[in-house]
This record gives sequence, structure tokens and C-alpha cells, in this order.
Amino acid sequence: MNRYAACPVCGFSEGNAPTIRRRGFSYVRCRGCGTIYLTPVPSVEQIRAFYQNPDYFAGDEDTGYRDYAAMHKALAPHFRRRLGILAKYLPQRGRLLDVGCADGYFLELARADGWEVMGLEISEEMARKASGRLNIPIATSLDGLSPGELDAITMWEVLEHLPDPVAELRRLVQRLRPGGFLMLSTPNAGHWQALRAPETWTAYRPPAHLVLFTADSLRLALEKAGLSIARIWKVSPLPPLPGWLQQATFPLARALADGSARPWMLALMLWRGVRLLGWGWQKMVHPQDDIFATLEALACRPA
Ligand SMILES: [Zn+2]
Repeated sequence: MNRYAACPVCGFSEGNAPTIRRRGFSYVRCRGCGTIYLTPVPSVEQIRAFYQNPDYFAGDEDTGYRDYAAMHKALAPHFRRRLGILAKYLPQRGRLLDVGCADGYFLELARADGWEVMGLEISEEMARKASGRLNIPIATSLDGLSPGELDAITMWEVLEHLPDPVAELRRLVQRLRPGGFLMLSTPNAGHWQALRAPETWTAYRPPAHLVLFTADSLRLALEKAGLSIARIWKVSPLPPLPGWLQQATFPLARALADGSARPWMLALMLWRGVRLLGWGWQKMVHPQDDIFATLEALACRPA
């Protein structure tokens, strides 16, 4: 008798077992494809209400962000690097939709890079902020978007928030022109913390994170949505550290993540040194560990 709902990516259910329980929820790992999914799944109304709480983007660190605006500094290099990759595939640019655009910071950089930008954001307060920043209307649902075909869709740390990611991706693919690209990032459920130290993994975040992918299950989800994969790769190496070093460097990691570290360059270099040490330690002690915290993917709507 199956106790948990079937995997939202591959449909497998038999023997799927929880990796961790938190706040009345369980994260269940699919034995078929490796996807980790939250159960019970909150209702669509509960999810919508959750993101209307202003604390989600500033204050609620356990489920959301301590201060999203303060993170621009930490996000900027990732946003610029991703725009560079997108530009290689779509050098002529065109119309870009950012799904889950938050306060519109990525769209601001994208517009400066030559894109005609559109945004979708479920939080009405953040949608207002993005609209003010960019001077364009920001939709709060897919149905509210202006019509027309898109050249690119981006989704940074959004897919894991969707209760039925394959269906949602399919709806988005319909808005892409043939030959258009979808690019996304999402936590890597193959990361060593997800499997070996679940109590320390920050992506176990109910009720915000509903579905967490491995590289293989992300590939499956994108293909099922009708996309052809160009690349899936891993970024943000977060190797295991000896316990004392993990504790000693926690404040540094946090200050870099939320943009408050001073002086910035020194903190960044220190953190890189720590990660290099951790990488050497991992090679000796846990050589099988997957150390990358984030997956990125680029996929195309077939012509
Ligand atoms: Zn599965």
C-alpha cells in the first residue's frame, strides 16, 4: 500500500520514502527518478496566499528571504553570467519573460543587455515593485500576460515552488516561439546535504519548495514538457567542511548570501578559500559526494 502521492515528475510511487519531516510536511524521495517532493501538497489557494505575505521576501528567513533587495549584490554575477549564456544562443535578443521576477532586478539587467522584457510575479507587492522599477505592467498570473510569442523565458529558483512543474512548463512552452529558449535554475536534489545531511540542507523549505530535482529528473521534466535540452549543468560548489569549520564559517556564508558582508571582496575571497579547502577535504573523505548546490538548464522549443 502506497502511503505517499506519486512522483510529480515520473509518476512512480512504490517504495518512495521520506528523507526528512519538517513543520508537518514530509519530503519524499522518488525511487524511480530521484526527485524529492513535498507531501501533503498545499492547495493552490494556500500557495497563492503564502506569497502575498510581505514577510516572504523580507523577514521570513526559514521559508523565504531575510531581505531579497539586499541580495542583489550576490545575485548580480549569476544574472550577468546567465545573460551571457542566453546571448550566445539568441544573439539577436528579442522578447524575454522572467517567471517569478520578484522585484524586477534581473529584468532590469536583461533590458540593459538588449532584451524587450516582460515579468510574471505571484506576489502582488513584488509585482508592484518590479512594475515601478521597470515602468511596465507585471502580470501576477500566466493568464494576465499580454499575448504574443516569446523568444526566451527565464525562471530563477522558481520551478521548485510549483506543485505540478511539468504541467506548468508545458503551459510556458506554448508561449515560446519555435526555436525559442527556456533557461532556469533550481536547487540540486543530488547535493550531498540533501541525501547525507538533510537537516542542514537549506532547500528543504516547506511550504515554499514543493519539488526538488536531480540533474536526471530535471532533464525528464523538461523533455516531458516538450522541450529539447541544450544543456544541463551544475553551479555553486558547496563541499562538505569539517564540523568545526562549517560552524566557524556559517556567519560568513550567510553574510555573503544576503549581501551584508564587508569588505565584500575580502569576504568573497575568504569564502572561496574555505570552499577550496572543503573541496580538498571532500576528495579525501567523501569522494562520492555531489558538491554542487544548484542546477541550471537551457532548453529549446523544437522548431
Ligand atoms: Zn520520480
